[in-house]
Amino acid sequence: MATKPANEIFPVSENVSRMRPSSTLAAMQAAEAMRAEGIDVVDLGAGEPDFDTPDNIKLAADEAMRRGQTKYTPTGGSRDLQHAIINFYEREFGVSFDRSQVMATSGGKQAIFNAVVSLVNPGDEVLIAKPYWVTFPEIVNFARGTPVFIETEESDFVLTADEVRRRITPRTKLIILNSPSNPSGRVIPPSEFERIMQLVYERGMYAISDECYLRFVYPPAEVYSAARLPAELLGRLCIAGSFSKTYAMTGWRLGYSIARPEWTRAMLNVQGHSTSNPNSIAQRAAIEALNGPQDSVSNMLAEYTRRRNWLLKAIEEIPGFRCIQPEGAFYAFPDVRGCLNGEVKSSAEFTERLLKEEQTVVTDGAGFGVDGYIRISYATSLESLKEGINRMSRLAEKLAR
Ligand code: GLU
Repeated sequence: MATKPANEIFPVSENVSRMRPSSTLAAMQAAEAMRAEGIDVVDLGAGEPDFDTPDNIKLAADEAMRRGQTKYTPTGGSRDLQHAIINFYEREFGVSFDRSQVMATSGGKQAIFNAVVSLVNPGDEVLIAKPYWVTFPEIVNFARGTPVFIETEESDFVLTADEVRRRITPRTKLIILNSPSNPSGRVIPPSEFERIMQLVYERGMYAISDECYLRFVYPPAEVYSAARLPAELLGRLCIAGSFSKTYAMTGWRLGYSIARPEWTRAMLNVQGHSTSNPNSIAQRAAIEALNGPQDSVSNMLAEYTRRRNWLLKAIEEIPGFRCIQPEGAFYAFPDVRGCLNGEVKSSAEFTERLLKEEQTVVTDGAGFGVDGYIRISYATSLESLKEGINRMSRLAEKLAR
């Protein structure tokens, strides 16, 4: 029998062909490739804390290895970790969840993936506000759902219940909420959040609340978790959480979900046949993160606040830039349309020029669903932030001429 030639075009599945690659990861990898070539790159692309994981967390992982906690755990994580998550929500938000509602995942991204594929059928509509985190629509595409985007430019990128209502059809199954938002840093006020969830409840829909920037908000905005919602609304909700940002643990890949037991059982089934339990050593580290001292979180928040204050003023000085005040996360998301001209026609081209001419990485807004904007991450030292903004101003001035 003749064998097929090795250079045959690979028949990528329809489900995966529907997904576009992650532009946030691409920006990070572009910076990494330039660094490997010895180029003096300023990386304002990565949505990743520049802080090291706190020592108490590392020590807990070290101890876990020594004690031989290197085996499988239950699919949804160890009982100790589930209890640590439950205690955290009790302590912070006065809500009691049951272990049957809580599972640990390999990063917040897996929690969202599990939640979407456990619920969405082909043709179901899923509401996603623009600008959105790049991964939301792609998971929906993978599940053969239909992402339905909600424009929020008129409300300065804050999603409102009125806008949600306008986009609901009989096919709407799910809405994905993310506050503080990546990339805009905008926060949905708690009263508006509750109005949206009331609508979700009335229309028999479901919601995912991606709370991965939960702890990083700047006054007057306040820390808010959807866990605070009235009990009947919680039945319609899956909270997706992450250790990556709060405890500077991106590489450890640890997140969690909290949802009603039936939804959680379906998610456990997905995870049980894909990755099984998250890393057992990272789970021990996460228990320490939740139960141990929290001063590293306030120290990081204080430093982000310092950088944010500096950055927002600096952006105002750049010709052609306009920026809505981010209230959370560690991103600024300026409108750069004032810099576009005959020569540079889109934010993608602006980002490209910045990379080529100024060796500075930012993430193009188009990947987040809005052309004409760029995402600047300030999860980097004030020193490189200053250097990056210098370089950006140089390009903006050149384009203004
Ligand atoms: N969430 C981060 C970002 O938006 C990490 C990259 C990713 O997983 O998309 O940059």
